[in-house]
Amino acid sequence: MHSIEFQLKICLEAPWHVGTGLSRGLVDRTTQRNACGDVYIPASTVKGRLRNACEHLARIYGSEANRLGPCEPPRPDRMCRGSDACIVCSVFGSAYLGERLYVEDALMSADSRGLYDPGIQAQPRTRVKLDRRLGAAEHGHLFTSEYAERSLVFYAGMSGLMDLTPISDNANSAYELVLLAAGAGLVKELGGDKSSGFGRCEVSIVDGIRVSGREVRVHELVEMIDELEYYKVG
Ligand SMILES: [Zn+2]
Repeated sequence: MHSIEFQLKICLEAPWHVGTGLSRGLVDRTTQRNACGDVYIPASTVKGRLRNACEHLARIYGSEANRLGPCEPPRPDRMCRGSDACIVCSVFGSAYLGERLYVEDALMSADSRGLYDPGIQAQPRTRVKLDRRLGAAEHGHLFTSEYAERSLVFYAGMSGLMDLTPISDNANSAYELVLLAAGAGLVKELGGDKSSGFGRCEVSIVDGIRVSGREVRVHELVEMIDELEYYKVG
């Protein structure tokens, strides 16, 4: 087992839907805000998006020979069991393995907090709930959503304890680290209202991943992405 540690930077490139409340003209404060009133991105959202991106990569580079393809939650018969887990479960954890990667809530950067008071970090937009069947507005169903402003920047600390599979004799690399580094760059949205472009973001790992205290630069890991094809072969 190796301990790993890194910081994820998330820049909003479009307003992000942070919460919705049914309302009659009143703004329902159901957004994700911390004790200081600052908007934050919950750890579960951050981890979920990163895991999805890594599953996507594992599918792209997966073959019968390398067994890289991820299992398929939530179908129990297609999920990893016991210690013989897919690469995604061995990085992120599973019901059988327990947690492997611990993710903190993504908190707003000091720069963003300096520029945006809590009152303007997110703006309410009131919309009408549509009845899909009738194709008309539902009576009395105005709802207010809050959208965090684009250009806000957040940071989330991540740490984990996991087995690493070295790539050839390169001690600074492992398939699991390449997957994480490349997966982070693939996260392009935070979910919700995707069709209208809301939630678009740019995600990156700051500097590198510290592996048992030693830092491995992200660009070195991303350059090895094609090595994923040879995961566990031979
Ligand atoms: Zn799995």
